[in-house]
Amino acid sequence: MSTLRFHAIKKSLSAKPVPVEEKERRSDIFGKNVFNENSMRQYLTKDAFAGVMNAIQYGKKIDRAIADQVSSSMKDWALSKGVTHYTHWFQPLTGTTAEKHDAFFETIGDGMAIEKFGGSQLVQQEPDASSFPSGGIRNTFEARGYTAWDPTSPAFIYGTTLCIPTIFVAYTGEALDYKTPLLRALQAVDGAATAVCKYFDKNVKKVTSSLGWEQEYFLIDKTLAATRPDIALTGRTLLGHSAAKGQQLDDHYFGSIPSRALNYMRELETECMLLGIPVKTRHNEVAPNQFELAPIFEEANLAVDHNSLLMDIMGRVASRHNFKVLLHEKPFAGINGSGKHNNWSLSTDTGVNLLAPGKTPMSNLQFLTFFINTIKAVNKHEALLRATIASASNDHRLGANEAPPAIISVFIGEQLTKVLEELEGVTKGKLSPQEKTELKLNVVGKIPDVLLDNTDRNRTSPFAFTGNKFEFRAVGSTANCGDPMTVLNTIVAKQLKDFKVEVDKLIDEKGLKKDEAIFNVLREYIKASKRILFEGNGYSEAWEKEAEKRGLSNNKTTPDALKAKISKDSMALFEEMQVMSNIETKARYEIEVEAYIMHIQIEGRVLGDIARNHIVPTAVRYQNTLIENVKGLKEIFDEKFKEVSKEQLNLIEQISNHIESINANVTKMINERKKANAIQDVEKKAQAYCFNVKPLFEDIRYHCDKLELLVDDEIWPLTKYRELLFTR
Ligand code: ADP
Ligand code: MG
Repeated sequence: MSTLRFHAIKKSLSAKPVPVEEKERRSDIFGKNVFNENSMRQYLTKDAFAGVMNAIQYGKKIDRAIADQVSSSMKDWALSKGVTHYTHWFQPLTGTTAEKHDAFFETIGDGMAIEKFGGSQLVQQEPDASSFPSGGIRNTFEARGYTAWDPTSPAFIYGTTLCIPTIFVAYTGEALDYKTPLLRALQAVDGAATAVCKYFDKNVKKVTSSLGWEQEYFLIDKTLAATRPDIALTGRTLLGHSAAKGQQLDDHYFGSIPSRALNYMRELETECMLLGIPVKTRHNEVAPNQFELAPIFEEANLAVDHNSLLMDIMGRVASRHNFKVLLHEKPFAGINGSGKHNNWSLSTDTGVNLLAPGKTPMSNLQFLTFFINTIKAVNKHEALLRATIASASNDHRLGANEAPPAIISVFIGEQLTKVLEELEGVTKGKLSPQEKTELKLNVVGKIPDVLLDNTDRNRTSPFAFTGNKFEFRAVGSTANCGDPMTVLNTIVAKQLKDFKVEVDKLIDEKGLKKDEAIFNVLREYIKASKRILFEGNGYSEAWEKEAEKRGLSNNKTTPDALKAKISKDSMALFEEMQVMSNIETKARYEIEVEAYIMHIQIEGRVLGDIARNHIVPTAVRYQNTLIENVKGLKEIFDEKFKEVSKEQLNLIEQISNHIESINANVTKMINERKKANAIQDVEKKAQAYCFNVKPLFEDIRYHCDKLELLVDDEIWPLTKYRELLFTR
């Protein structure tokens, strides 16, 4: 008997829901472990409070004296909560979060000690950057990097550590993390959008970008997961035959949440509440043991931090509930994978959501301005947007008939399509009074009504307008939302900047009124962006053909998709909007290509190991049993021998064939890997991994999965899909 697997199954069957207590109301514990506005008011002097608020709201620099006050108060607050250590918390380009704890504790001579935390420790630290990916930046310059306090994201306590959100940059100033470019992009979109808002309301001083992510994940029994080297090392199953039952009965989605999972969620949500992560929604997802968690949307930088923090906490809480959480985009073949919809909008400091239709024709014109500019931006930079969601793991999901295709398109619904069609017919130049009235009454004025019944939601669209926000659905579940959010906000910022120039030109040079000029520019934008609008089935083959005709990119693999990040257009865009220098853009590209190579390389090694050292020996063992059996049959039967041993002989042969194919393919894969490893150029190396190494995974898997169906269940070493997916 396969001891490990059966031992694990036995253990998993006795797993009980871990009790959780929720003594206090969620609203009472919300943000309790966050140095938020509330705690700052309590702990900071008036000056310090004003300084930090100015930094948060208007990006003003915090001077040293204020930083000293803030750090001292932060320390007092943290000590009052039993905290012993502090850390700069950041998001390097590894895709996880990083922290290095230091104690507040310091000796002051004569055997005495105090707790100390000064402004300089709050503001800046110098972790060794050489162990984080830098895409060649550190070769060119210096190994050192530093982290710098981001006052716009509040410090928080996790366990007994005070965590201070920071950016992470090379000693020479280049960004080495997700946060730095994001902050720059948010500043760019704020500037450009605020300028455009002034056409409609002079009082607008700031535009904020919001993000509401929806995190999908799988919860697998921890003991069962531990029996699978592929899950442990790659986060997904590299082989395993589908269970007889998958998701075909649609009986999991929105079903009652299994109690072990529910208790996990409750504890996770409590942790989130304490950390000020406003989680609100939880439900079963489509696949068995798949779930979703979503918060109330927040300012984008904070939302990105919260999602990174959440992914970390999810794993820790899971362990206490004897679960392993799988964030991978495609942990199991044949059933749905996981994504992370990014709901995005822009809003003003006067409280207006710029992507929500308003009550008056003028506010609707403002809505249409932002709506159409966003569409135009996506149209122009569709390939770049696609590149932001490219990763080895998301490749399994995009276009796999469950998630959006690798083609970016925008869905806006029937009603808004009609509105755009009408706007397309607006007269060139000055408008007659009748036309203006007609537009105001019947086109622009009608939007709120039509939107209310605009309920059709196209789930196959990667970028859909859903009433008061755009939903970027192609983002992967393991992704740091920082990258897609950086690019989305940058392309919209650039587009709004161009829009302002064009409108001003019509006003200044052609003598058009403001609204006439806006209508004129929007009309041209609609014409220019048509190819990106698509209302049909994004999964269909017809769309793939149509998209090609329209000249939309369809980059199915990460190595191909990533190239858009270093196209001339993209580099110029990032530089113009001061989001990333060319050095930074290229470095990031290199890091991502390398990460792709590593992922496929690791998967290849793990698969080769499992196939050769777990599957083949098991198959041989079973085959030997069959051979013994056949020998025995031969002893007791004479003429009838051929007939009674027919199936066994057939099985023996089949097993041999599969074993041979596995060995041949593993050898082939190892050779291809060796060849790929010898390639110096990372781009070519990634291509080799993608097109020469990775396709062999499927061949190896096919034969292993066939063996799973043939070999005695009692000796099969790998925990099976049905056990992983249906143990609750
Ligand atoms: P679903 O897409 O699953 O139907 P919802 O549309 O209700 O769910 O919301 C999903 C996410 O969108 C939530 O995180 C929610 O907070 C967020 N969201 C709602 N309105 C906005 C907005 N104006 N800007 C950004 N995110 C938003
Ligand atoms: Mg959604």
